[in-house]
Amino acid sequence: MRFKALAAVALLALAACGKQASGPATEGVTDAMIASGVDGEWLTYGNDRGEQRFSKLTQVNDTNVGQLGLAWSADLETARGQEATPLMHNGVLYVSTAWSMVKAFDAKTGALKWSYDPKVPRDTLVRACCDAVNRGVALYGDKVFVGTLDGRLVSLNQADGKVAWEKTVVPNQSDYTITGAPRIANGKVLLGSGGAEYKARGYLAAYDWKTGKELWKFHTVPGNPDDGFENKAMEAAAKTWSGKWWELGGGGTVWDSITYDPATNLVLFGTGNAEPWNPAAAGREGDSLYTSSIVAVDADTGEYKWHFQETPEDRWDFDSNAQITVTDLAINGEQKHVVLHAPKNGYFYVLDAKSGAFISAGSFVTQNWSTGIDPKTGRPMINPEARYEKTGKPFISIPGAGGAHSWQPMSFSPATGFTYIPTNLAAFPFAAAKDWKPSAMGFQTAQDGAMVAMPADKGARAGALAATTGALIAWDPVGQKAAWTVSHPGPWNGGTLSTAGNLVFQGTAEGYLEAYSANKGAKLWSFDAQTGVMAAPMTYSIGGEQYVAVLAGWGGVWDIAPGVLSTKSRGARNISRLLVFKLGAKGALPAIPPLNKLPLDPSAFTGTPEQATAGANTYARYCSVCHGDAAIAGALNPDLRHSVYIGSAEGIRAVVIDGLLMQGDHPKGMVSFKAALKPEDVENIRQYILKRANEDKALGEK
Ligand code: CA
Repeated sequence: MRFKALAAVALLALAACGKQASGPATEGVTDAMIASGVDGEWLTYGNDRGEQRFSKLTQVNDTNVGQLGLAWSADLETARGQEATPLMHNGVLYVSTAWSMVKAFDAKTGALKWSYDPKVPRDTLVRACCDAVNRGVALYGDKVFVGTLDGRLVSLNQADGKVAWEKTVVPNQSDYTITGAPRIANGKVLLGSGGAEYKARGYLAAYDWKTGKELWKFHTVPGNPDDGFENKAMEAAAKTWSGKWWELGGGGTVWDSITYDPATNLVLFGTGNAEPWNPAAAGREGDSLYTSSIVAVDADTGEYKWHFQETPEDRWDFDSNAQITVTDLAINGEQKHVVLHAPKNGYFYVLDAKSGAFISAGSFVTQNWSTGIDPKTGRPMINPEARYEKTGKPFISIPGAGGAHSWQPMSFSPATGFTYIPTNLAAFPFAAAKDWKPSAMGFQTAQDGAMVAMPADKGARAGALAATTGALIAWDPVGQKAAWTVSHPGPWNGGTLSTAGNLVFQGTAEGYLEAYSANKGAKLWSFDAQTGVMAAPMTYSIGGEQYVAVLAGWGGVWDIAPGVLSTKSRGARNISRLLVFKLGAKGALPAIPPLNKLPLDPSAFTGTPEQATAGANTYARYCSVCHGDAAIAGALNPDLRHSVYIGSAEGIRAVVIDGLLMQGDHPKGMVSFKAALKPEDVENIRQYILKRANEDKALGEK
């Protein structure tokens, strides 16, 4: 007896040292509930452990979806991109919104139960590639977890939204941001970060759900060899890099997909692009592991198990961060446990989930960066012209940097066997910057943005617009072919939900939420959401009634970078709202408010051609990521051609150097660029914008 007690004390002492976890939750939301699902609830970002986003609910189905109407809606206070999937547990809908805020609603009535604002500093926007977005929360035990744009992991009480603990989890808050939804595996909160366009070294980490203590961390790219490698996987990866890649971090960030597969006890995650995009700028040669890859690690320890690199020697921003789906499929008469993946590079992959072995790939869009896939290894054969830093010529890549498919979640229906992919059909021009040096602020992609900016030419613009579209593709992963395709006028449409009611739901850039038959793609229902929808819909059931919910609110990277393209999203309005539907409901949205836009009435261009050229380069590097390619903005940020500040050298200097707009109580995010720009750079930018504004006025723009 005494011996037993002593042994127990010794065990406790052992438990106290080392990285001991609090253990899995036994009450509230548990791993068993997430694994098996709870009838009518939606407990985790991808709905189930395989991230299939397939609901078994059938009350709303292909015979009655036409009667779906607005049950309730909630206006959000931010006019920023909304990307989150709401979760539903115990009759409460948990939603994260732009600026990493979290809200809890009565899922039946829409009554707000609580709201949490992490008060993310608005200057974080200058370090975020793609708007102030957040893709969702995680539920576990009695807590809600959210990652914030400025790099914190926050645990909130489900009951009242009060902070239980919070912790800064990124290595620094100047290069790393968090937009992805945390996932849970046996009491561990799994989260990575974004930042591969800045100076980030990608990683995925696991945190104790009760305390926030870091339990393991797996880096996706090796660090400086002089510091020693953390593990054998880093040592192996270092052989696929050259130059001083660690000085810019190397990229490979884990900003979206994380899938915990209980069948293999593996955590599978996608990694982002290699950094800088242009390899020559950092003397980078080789595959650059483990960027643009799927990586599998042991869920308990974070130990490397396998990787599959989808895009070796990435120089096209081909992140592999799209959601990773796990399912069982019969392939050539054999039942296999597989990974389904449709990353930015345009190929649809089927891999063995346990070993990472390549099974098959099919091209779900037209693409030109590779000439095919090695059928044995799955390695792409790269088109030599796509190595733009070697040819010295721009390369118009299809797909582009936005990807054939990005974070917008796809869904997989076991009923039809199809995967429903929100697809972009869009090109992007890459050109290597010459004599490039890293800078204190902004993108570190080493691209010559001015060389490939949209020309002020009606024909060229019309051509680019016509060639840039989107589609909802129902993809047969076994046959590696499209079962059906619905075309959309623009790219950057919403994620998908599929249901046992033979339905697929998708929002569009144009501003509609639509339902299609899952087997044939027949359009059965459409609702005018008044604003582009990027987020994925979800569904739940309370008191015998099935609801469909989606966050509406245009934004994200596609609004920002090629602003001219967002004209395809019906005027590119952001009216951020949570929309909830049920059969027979008759709710209506208020009328669309008028768009207040200053007329295009610029002062004369007074600069020299040299100034305009220098300004174009500086603008492309520092300004275009928010204010739009060729100074044409989308919906979220001011269009500088219309700005009152470009009228005078003093005016624009006050904003760009002195940080005028970051003063006052409610700054919106326009920081000072003093650390990177001199007054003469700012004047060059001003002259370039004046030139652009006058060109567009001459083309008839108002
Ligand atoms: Ca990227």
